Amino acid sequence: MNRSQLAVTLLCIGGMAQAYSAEARNPMIEKIVAALSEEHIAATMKRLEAFGSRHVLSPQDDPAKGIGAARRWIVDEFKSYSPRLEISLDTFPVKKTPRIVRDAELTNIVALLPGKRDKDRYVVISAHYDSLNLVRKPGKSADDMDSVDWVATAETPVAPGVVDDGSGTAAVMELARVLSRYEFDKSILFIAFSGEEMGLVGSRHYAKMAREKKLDIEAVLNNDIIGSDVSGNGHSANHVLHVFSPDPLDSTSRSLARYVKETGERYVPDMRVDLVLRQDRFARNGDQTGFHEEGFAGVRLTTPAEFFANQHSPKDTFAGASVPYTALAARVNAAALASLALAPRPPVVTRERTREGKTTVTANLARGKSGYDAVMKWTVTNREPDLAGFAVVVRSTVSPVWEREIYVGDVSEYTIPNLSIDNVVLGVKAIDKDGNASLVSAYVQGELK
Ligand SMILES: [Zn+2]
Repeated sequence: MNRSQLAVTLLCIGGMAQAYSAEARNPMIEKIVAALSEEHIAATMKRLEAFGSRHVLSPQDDPAKGIGAARRWIVDEFKSYSPRLEISLDTFPVKKTPRIVRDAELTNIVALLPGKRDKDRYVVISAHYDSLNLVRKPGKSADDMDSVDWVATAETPVAPGVVDDGSGTAAVMELARVLSRYEFDKSILFIAFSGEEMGLVGSRHYAKMAREKKLDIEAVLNNDIIGSDVSGNGHSANHVLHVFSPDPLDSTSRSLARYVKETGERYVPDMRVDLVLRQDRFARNGDQTGFHEEGFAGVRLTTPAEFFANQHSPKDTFAGASVPYTALAARVNAAALASLALAPRPPVVTRERTREGKTTVTANLARGKSGYDAVMKWTVTNREPDLAGFAVVVRSTVSPVWEREIYVGDVSEYTIPNLSIDNVVLGVKAIDKDGNASLVSAYVQGELK
């Protein structure tokens, strides 16, 4: 957001006037961001490497090696952080596939920090704890589409997976450790998925279950490959984090991506957060994809500097990882996750109309009596007792991020005179008395249901 364009407005709370600024920092979130420990993150990355392989078909019962030992260790760590974390295992059978060369059981690890005010509303932070070392058939090169020997790949005892995705797993665990000392309005789910490397099997299973159970998941921050800051061609990007989100331009996932950029850069000025307006890297995907498929908002946080020669190989080790980069990326996550979990729900900016038995949903946005104004209306569900008001945001249709913000108070309608709704994008967000702001709900064109 352009600082000079931000409106700072007086907001009256309980007879006391206090400034609301979109850039103000919540001291609790500052403490959380500062409390994340590089040492803890490094120790977790090293520990995950020490299990040898975390391939989904690696040993389940060996006390020291394989995905079973890794899973038990992650569970014990979660348990040690706080008695308030509720740990559960999401275990499910999978049938043999070309990649998963025999029938198996996969297990996602879920740690729930229950919310205090809106506990049935969830924000998710995730990564995958399974790893992969692709073993090639003799004489075949990596360019050959069917060069992988999937049986040998399952059997190799060396698949360190430190950057992919020990780094994301370490960030999820470190956030669980620190955030579980605090209380939030919404519930937070810290999830280590299995089977990402086998085709997003774990996250797809979980997201499908979440839709079937109608879990009210507001956002998914998926971290995959946040552990390297120099790519194979020598390009360094140690202070840039990429956030991928799927189209359309004002999808709920895109709103989440903008939120990560705003909150991340506000609390972690050492990291630039760049939006990439795609669901994932070219022709590739990650665990956020499973959530998109089930209609949830999700983004992928990842480094712009991937080291392809190390990926899915015995070379993806702690020696090739950057702990300072992983810690910075984790701090961006902490800022976004804590902000979201403290914030009110986003306002509802649509209206329903039923005509001749057919219900349509459209943006609650009009040109007003003059025909030349922007008239926005919204409603709230589960209104928070400490809701303070709303801010309207505006941007050009070709701007990726919001350009203007106007605090409008505790109202459910606002008019900007002489602003053509044809030429800009408009949105609104809810703000509580501590200044915690919700995701933006944008006014989107067309029939929405
Ligand atoms: Zn990965």
